[in-house]
Amino acid sequence: MRSVDRDAGGMSDKAKLDQILEKLSNIPANTNDIVLTKLDKLQDQLTDLQSQMKVEPQIADKQPNKSSDSLTNTRSADYTGSIKRINTIRCLKELIDLGFIYDDNTSELMCFVCHQSCDSKSTNSTGPTDGVFTYPHDIKQNFDDHENLPRAFINLKKSVKRHFIDSISHQKNVKTEEERRAKQRLLENRNENAGMNLGRLCMKLYLKGCPYADFEDDVLVQKMNGTTVGELNHSRKFPAAFRPFVSKAIVRRVSDFFGRKLSQTGHLPVVNITADKATYKHNTRQFFSCVTVMPGADKLLQVISFGQPIVKSHTGFQLAMNMKETMDHLDIKSCQIEGGSFDGQYFHLGVQKALESPAVYDLPPNTVLWAWDALHRSGLVDTHLCKEERFQWVVDDTDVCSQLFRMFNWGQNHEKPIEASVLWKFHLKELVKLSETRFANSRRQVYLNIHHDLPAIITCLEEKILLSHQNPSDGKLREKASEAKELKGK
Ligand SMILES: [Zn+2]
Repeated sequence: MRSVDRDAGGMSDKAKLDQILEKLSNIPANTNDIVLTKLDKLQDQLTDLQSQMKVEPQIADKQPNKSSDSLTNTRSADYTGSIKRINTIRCLKELIDLGFIYDDNTSELMCFVCHQSCDSKSTNSTGPTDGVFTYPHDIKQNFDDHENLPRAFINLKKSVKRHFIDSISHQKNVKTEEERRAKQRLLENRNENAGMNLGRLCMKLYLKGCPYADFEDDVLVQKMNGTTVGELNHSRKFPAAFRPFVSKAIVRRVSDFFGRKLSQTGHLPVVNITADKATYKHNTRQFFSCVTVMPGADKLLQVISFGQPIVKSHTGFQLAMNMKETMDHLDIKSCQIEGGSFDGQYFHLGVQKALESPAVYDLPPNTVLWAWDALHRSGLVDTHLCKEERFQWVVDDTDVCSQLFRMFNWGQNHEKPIEASVLWKFHLKELVKLSETRFANSRRQVYLNIHHDLPAIITCLEEKILLSHQNPSDGKLREKASEAKELKGK
């Protein structure tokens, strides 16, 4: 840090400076322009020196006040930078950029922070005399490097510099303005944080299918955890109100993805579409989605839902049109369709042919792979297979499984295999009901679980037979025992 009055030998820096300034002020007014310009430069350098002597000690004085340390340092750096810049400025626009407003009508250059502070104060203030400089609007405002600056511009620069260095009210206003901006930034950050936190809570409800009433409790928990949640939008009504915006953002992202060529392939992303109809609350809808290639995602193949558009007519053509409208909404073009997977009904209705037809997508023949969904097919195989005589044992086994399920599904009978499993030292798997409409993999689950629980089931059946032997007079027990015997035999 420079010490102003350090010179022990003789005159101090300040005294020297004052002497030079005094000499300068004695130069006669009729000296020619070149000399004047040189003198101006010299005076600029001196003012710089003066500013360092004035500004820096002020900062040094403030050093003990640690609370505003970093702010003050940044500010002083900006400040000194602005003051140094003034020396090289050769157009009015650059001066304006330092924080001024120029009014053509009044030919006045006003310091923005001082002007604003005047505005914010009441009308009983003395008026914006500080920080207002006159520069006639009819004088040139731009000067090339070889041009001499006119006196008016030089004086303007000087006044601006003096305002920056000497005006205490200006420095006070700059500080107030910076504090105001810092507060504003903090508030904006807090608002954004609160918004993002509430948005994430909503997203959890949407993705998990939780009731919106959970939202209020979630917000409360987050608040107690010390998370910024703000003071607004804490009601259970918020997730519903917010949802359309989330939906819009997702649709925009999805259509953006399908509309942009992949850098890995150089082509638009391709899709294999899949759809199935379902009726819920009297509305028949298509559950419409696709499988696409997404390089960079956690899994290369990703399923994207296109939504559940309502089906108004059940013809193949109408179903195909329904799909097209949905895909048009997402900006997916015909060239992106590589395949489709549907169940039997879609093929019976000829949806795949309708999609290929000129009226819908006009796809070249034999270029798109239409697949009959494998799970539906294997489900049907089971039904046909059971009709053949040589596979009667499948039907019989299935029948035994149903009987066992019925026997051990309810009340006290349900508890017995659990008790038996403790003796056998294994965890029971819950018996599964056979379903006529589900696929073959559901049947597999039935067989596997019964096979796993068999020791416990046999123990229970034996117990029933034993109980009947102990009470031969009880008709009900006898009936149960004979059923158990029959099942055990199978
Ligand atoms: Zn000012």
